[in-house]
Amino acid sequence: MQASDTDAPQWPMIIGGKKVEAQSGKRFDIINPATGLAYCSVPEGDAADIDIAVDAAKKGFDIWSKMSALQRASILMKAADILQERLADFVDAEVLQTGRPIREMRAQLARTPEWYSYFASVARTYESKVHPFGGDHVNYGRRLALGVVGLVTPWNHPLLILTKKLAPALAAGNAVVVKPSEVAPITPLMLADVFSEAGLPEGVYNVVTGFGAGAGAALTAHRDIAKIDLTGGTETGRKVAALAGERLIPFSGELGGKASVIVFDDVSVDRAAAATLFASFVAAGQTCVQGARLLVHESIHDAVLEKLIARANALVVGAPDDESTQMGPVVSDRQLATVEKYVAIGKDEGARLVAGGERLSGEGRDGGYFYAPTIFADVSNDMRIAQEEIFGPVVCVMKFSTEAEAVALANGTDFGLAASVWSSNIARAKRVAEDIEAGIVWINDHHRIDPSSPWGGFKDSGIGKENGIVCYEGYTRMQSIVLNTSEEPFDWFAEDGKQKRYS
Ligand code: NDP
Repeated sequence: MQASDTDAPQWPMIIGGKKVEAQSGKRFDIINPATGLAYCSVPEGDAADIDIAVDAAKKGFDIWSKMSALQRASILMKAADILQERLADFVDAEVLQTGRPIREMRAQLARTPEWYSYFASVARTYESKVHPFGGDHVNYGRRLALGVVGLVTPWNHPLLILTKKLAPALAAGNAVVVKPSEVAPITPLMLADVFSEAGLPEGVYNVVTGFGAGAGAALTAHRDIAKIDLTGGTETGRKVAALAGERLIPFSGELGGKASVIVFDDVSVDRAAAATLFASFVAAGQTCVQGARLLVHESIHDAVLEKLIARANALVVGAPDDESTQMGPVVSDRQLATVEKYVAIGKDEGARLVAGGERLSGEGRDGGYFYAPTIFADVSNDMRIAQEEIFGPVVCVMKFSTEAEAVALANGTDFGLAASVWSSNIARAKRVAEDIEAGIVWINDHHRIDPSSPWGGFKDSGIGKENGIVCYEGYTRMQSIVLNTSEEPFDWFAEDGKQKRYS
């Protein structure tokens, strides 16, 4: 059965403030990962729709970029309030499209309005600099909006990741065309009503649903896009960055990860196990900063592993809309196949499977993409399961004996997005954190985020930053105004014997 053939909801996409179909008239289904069944459909936008959306965004930009920072900030504050009032609807939609447990989505979405209020405040309080040019000249920098920005987003945190890009982009005065994940485009579509009611001018927020190879590729190659901001896999990031390079426009990429959780011998076994569960199995492991590699000091390794196995086996894996569920399904049959493939690779490589390693059915899980929390012990750092992004509920456990060895293991991957260091010896934890080649390092925590806190990877994990003032500035270009305040006549070529200077 296809949702597009039934009376299931048929979502339109958003262009120029209107709810529209794709030019081709095609639609595709959105699947509930907990049942494997289609429950709604969206238009299959392609290059023709992207052209129309970019044109609409250019018109939106003309209005939005000319509004004062105060006007933009007050619309974003209003959007934050409306989103806050509607959070329950957004939570339900995220649970349906991602399969993530309702308790997780409530906790995550409760914070999304903060991004709009934070960046509204940044726009309102941002102070330009006066540079020490010297002499009779006054030199100041102006931050200007870029224009129409392309935002390409993934399925794992559909609303949060879009929000992390959208709030600074809008605050700085840009218009956007969003290409959400083909798997989870519903909450980005729902956001259009929030902005419309908040007073955002038509055409500033456009969403073209479709596939990466169609709408995504057309958006990122479009000649009128002023910046591309993508969250996705590293290979997608490379392709899109190359297109941006050809056109000399800024590119920001939040890409893949393989984060380490480093646990020293002064951490209690209970705390180490709880830390790893949180780092590794939230979102069924489908987060870019997932604690995919647990590095434990050899003196507590066996005790931590034993506790971790017991707690992982006890996690309640089931229907995402059930309040007692602790872990839901993975997002799609494709993602499930990837997890199964890597578990087979891990076994072939000689890692010891000590928990999970199988698909789960029964008890309301039939038809859904449920997989047991999975732990591999005796993993060595050169194994593919230790190096490649699995993006599922699988954690690889390794042991270390010295601080230097822990750092070398943590740095021994091509990725460099995040890591966490667990120790009650703060001097050691700080030292180790600063030696780790990752864009985000937590000490005695994991997964924590705030709109003010810069977020982004080193190495193959990407380029650019989300969150914070650095991100706001990344959505602007700087114009340097040099003003000569002197009335004194100046004639470079006059042979008057005066010492001439450029400044
Ligand atoms: P993908 O790279 O497959 O897709 C990301 C987005 O890019 C989707 O909207 C996709 O469309 C689109 N896309 C795919 N190919 C192209 C193309 N050639 N041109 C333009 N757009 C394209 O990633 P996933 O959606 O599978 O998300 C998981 C990945 O995202 C993981 O690698 C994860 O680590 C990373 N991620 C990184 C985060 C970070 O902060 N660093 C945070 C969260 C996730 P479609 O949906 O149709 O495929």
